[in-house]
Amino acid sequence: MEPVIAIVGRPNVGKSTLFNRIVGRRQAIVNDTAGVTRDRHYANADWRGQKLILIDTGGIAVGDVKSIQSFIKKQTMAAITEADVIVCVFDGREGPTTLDEHIIELVRKANKPVIYAINKSDQMQKSTTDTYLAPFYELGIPSKANIFPVSSEHGRGVDDILDAVLANIPKEEKITEDAGLSAVTRIAVIGRPNAGKSTLINRLAGTERVIAHEMAGTTRDCIDVHISYGDRKYVFVDTAGLKKKG
Ligand code: GDP
Ligand code: MG
Repeated sequence: MEPVIAIVGRPNVGKSTLFNRIVGRRQAIVNDTAGVTRDRHYANADWRGQKLILIDTGGIAVGDVKSIQSFIKKQTMAAITEADVIVCVFDGREGPTTLDEHIIELVRKANKPVIYAINKSDQMQKSTTDTYLAPFYELGIPSKANIFPVSSEHGRGVDDILDAVLANIPKEEKITEDAGLSAVTRIAVIGRPNAGKSTLINRLAGTERVIAHEMAGTTRDCIDVHISYGDRKYVFVDTAGLKKKG
């Protein structure tokens, strides 16, 4: 299972350019004219020996602000659901917009690691980086450490993005690859609704916790909570609760 990296952001910030840059060939269509709507794009990539699956959320939205927002929301949510790490792209020349704020909201709710790429930073200089990034710091991005200026077109800063991606791949992902080293034990927590299943799991995750990582299932009603205890890995499956039909 290779980690999945989703590139999200509003139209025209340079997502496809970044995607192509990472993949190493021109695969996604880079477009500066509105009017084309495309599906999500997948490609394999490799960084420092780590295999990755990249998703480019394609799509140039057309229409009024409302329909653009719902289109982007759909695209972004679908990609986020599949992702292990999210790369959220902005246009550094234009600065943050309302749509960017909207996307940050979506991304934050996903509870997954996010790398923020301030793209089109073609002229960036170390000395002025803080001033330049200031408007983005104000967006309520949780950690400044995950904000990177980048120029996808010229390939500058892309290394930093990829290193940050590697550093943020959930540990379980790497561990399960070493088959046999540490088998993951799955434990289902069942009971009627409101019996306190989730509270119990949260309590377990909160003490002696090394890694607790939530992944909301889309097609399942269960939530996996990864908990390390000592050198053993467990997945607690929080079930939605058994309900009688009718
Ligand atoms: P997407 O809609 O987010 O996928 O954006 P695209 O990748 O299609 O790029 C939109 C426009 O921004 C294109 O004209 C690109 O050439 C341009 N662009 C992308 N990255 C950069 C960059 O790093 N610097 C500059 N100056 N332009 C860029
Ligand atoms: Mg694109």
